[in-house]
Amino acid sequence: MTFAFDNTYARLPERFFARQAPVPVPQPRLIKLNEALAHQLGLDPEALRSPEGLAMLAGNQVPAGADPLAMAYAGHQFGGFVPRLGDGRAILLGEILDPRGERYDIQLKGSGRTPFSRGGDGRAWLGPVLREYLLSEAMHALGIPTTRSLAAVATGELVYREAGPLPGAVLTRVARGHVRVGTFEYFQARQDTDALRQLADYVLARHYPEARASDQPYRALLVAVVARQAELVARWLGVGFIHGVMNTDNMSITGETIDYGPCAFMDAYHPGQVYSSIDHGGRYAYGNQPQIAQWNLARLAQALLPLLDPDQDQAVAQAQAVIDGFAPGFEQAYLACFRAKLGLLEAQEGDADLIDGLLRAMAATGADFTNSFRALNAAAAGAEGPLRAQLGDGGPATAWISRWQARLAGETTSPQTRSAAMRRANPAVIPRNHQVEAALEAAVAGDLKPLDTLLQVLAQPWDAGPGGEEFQRPPAPHQVVQRTFCGT
Ligand code: AMP
Ligand code: MG
Repeated sequence: MTFAFDNTYARLPERFFARQAPVPVPQPRLIKLNEALAHQLGLDPEALRSPEGLAMLAGNQVPAGADPLAMAYAGHQFGGFVPRLGDGRAILLGEILDPRGERYDIQLKGSGRTPFSRGGDGRAWLGPVLREYLLSEAMHALGIPTTRSLAAVATGELVYREAGPLPGAVLTRVARGHVRVGTFEYFQARQDTDALRQLADYVLARHYPEARASDQPYRALLVAVVARQAELVARWLGVGFIHGVMNTDNMSITGETIDYGPCAFMDAYHPGQVYSSIDHGGRYAYGNQPQIAQWNLARLAQALLPLLDPDQDQAVAQAQAVIDGFAPGFEQAYLACFRAKLGLLEAQEGDADLIDGLLRAMAATGADFTNSFRALNAAAAGAEGPLRAQLGDGGPATAWISRWQARLAGETTSPQTRSAAMRRANPAVIPRNHQVEAALEAAVAGDLKPLDTLLQVLAQPWDAGPGGEEFQRPPAPHQVVQRTFCGT
């Protein structure tokens, strides 16, 4: 079994990373292998399952051609700057090209201590590893850019957390890249402009070739990253996703969702919803995510200042202008996303207000986010019952429904076209917290069936499928998950 590695990051200067092999584990056991992803990457699932493949996925054997390293990065965590974070429990094995020539990082997470581990053990435990596996694959199925999960391996080693000894695990993460906003901040903090330029050139060549061709490539890079993040956060809002730890070290330069810690998909709609146990101030609440994305991008802009213009006043003005472009870019992406959810296929003045009206009605009754939007599909086709059940039969909800129906009637769109578009805009199933927790609890106890079922259902989120009603049901009051944990 071989990965055909071609490791561009490892060819960057030594101060970009620390060379570090994964630390072997006593008893690797394959828990999950993502066969569909393996095929997509041109890897042979059978070879990955073999003892040799398993040894690689566990970090016990460094595959030929790999150049294992821990990436250096800094980051603003909850607003405070930490000049040195880096991969403290992850190893970039290397990069591979899929059959279409697309480049992907292969990273082991939970693979042991590195020079960036600080006080940590460099390990992960099975619960959060499977959580990332499940949620990242669900995100992918929803069509939202994300890192992916190729495999989860139990290590046979115990890791010690507040809750006591827990089974250790390693996740194989696949991403278009692992450069973060915090990677730029790392070199900014060291006033290492040469490294900043090399990093920016690397990112331009690998991820933003269009921007590289511009006459102001670094400015174009910032514009492009801002655009991708605006789009990404709009898409998160469209499925009720709350990242939970939008620190700058958890914002990928590629525009992929990365670092599934205490993230959650919300059940009852509330713009202030927070699940993360460490987000005391609600900094990363559902409705704050656009602003936080912009704040993080301003940190990127700041790091790029030395590259934007030799005259720093000019550079600041340029950076400010690009960052100011986030809000309109986000607004456009958000409107496109929510127009589709409401079945509005022709943009009109006043759409933002119509969308707002629905969200206000939902917040007033604590309506289920996913099911309310899904109920719009039926309502657009004439069956208003499920929608009224979500929004209540009171005045504001009824008034909103009439206004929306009138707006739909004013379009030339055919009902078939609208129905097909709405089906793809409003998933039937999302990873509901109580179901995620139950599946993970069973998996950790040795029963993988609930996790497999959930993975299967979430792989086709646009249809609940036979027996799927169970996965559309919001939690009963006693099932509501109030808090999610980083669980590192
Ligand atoms: P995260 O909260 O996963 O984004 O991680 C923030 C920082 O803490 C990163 O530098 C991680 O590498 C580091 N970190 C998290 N968990 C561990 C661990 N168990 N051992 C070492 N470093 C860790
Ligand atoms: Mg992180």
